[in-house]
Amino acid sequence: MAIKQTAGHDQLGRFAPQFAQLNDDVLFGQVWSREDELSARDRSMITCAGLMSMGLFPQLKSHMAMAKGNGVTRTEMVALITHLAFYAGWPKAWSAFDLAKEVYGEGDNEDGSRDTAAPATPSKAGTEPDSGPYPLGDPADGPNFTGHVWLHPLTGPDAECPASNVTFAPGCVNRWHTHPHGQLLIVTAGLGWEQEEGRQPRRLEPGDVVFCPAGVRHWHGASGRSSMAHIAVTPASKGQSPVEWMEFPDPDQVAALG
Ligand code: MN
Repeated sequence: MAIKQTAGHDQLGRFAPQFAQLNDDVLFGQVWSREDELSARDRSMITCAGLMSMGLFPQLKSHMAMAKGNGVTRTEMVALITHLAFYAGWPKAWSAFDLAKEVYGEGDNEDGSRDTAAPATPSKAGTEPDSGPYPLGDPADGPNFTGHVWLHPLTGPDAECPASNVTFAPGCVNRWHTHPHGQLLIVTAGLGWEQEEGRQPRRLEPGDVVFCPAGVRHWHGASGRSSMAHIAVTPASKGQSPVEWMEFPDPDQVAALG
């Protein structure tokens, strides 16, 4: 059963509400959900084929991740791209393989893992984002990020001072938000940006330490050309949400930062 899609609402709900509604309710709500006619897995393979043929690589990457969720294995995705290389073009296959390696991983197993002594951290030379001295952790994509993000908890969930290593894919940033007791960020890998409201964006490099004071609106994330990982220490009182999310920063201004 397909998961309810809210990408249109999340990304364009205010800017282009009719397009967002058509995307979520008609394309995904009515067409994709007709699984008695064509399974979600088959629809994913067809969609990936269409997007690769047109060279629409940003959308292809999102749909590869969805295909993986819909049961398309790495072996099948590799076969799909190899097959299409003859119909859609050799360079497109090269570009698609780069995306498939990011989505499926490069390990020996179908899920990208390795059975033998694999390093805890992903290869810094590889296509997976560099998560610094900690494992990449689990995907934590959601409506509050513009792209892929991974979370590796460094404390238990009930710690008074919860801390995680958070890795943002290149170009991925979060919404404007506040923390009730502020937040300490310690950059562990890559390049990124942090901006507090009313201030110039601050460039982030490994080793940088940023404290965002309580209640001050800010956003943070990766630069457009590199992933970025930081430890986030975000205290919260019992029963209190550690973050209040708002709108996304202006994508043109974020893109202009590089
Ligand atoms: Mn924050």
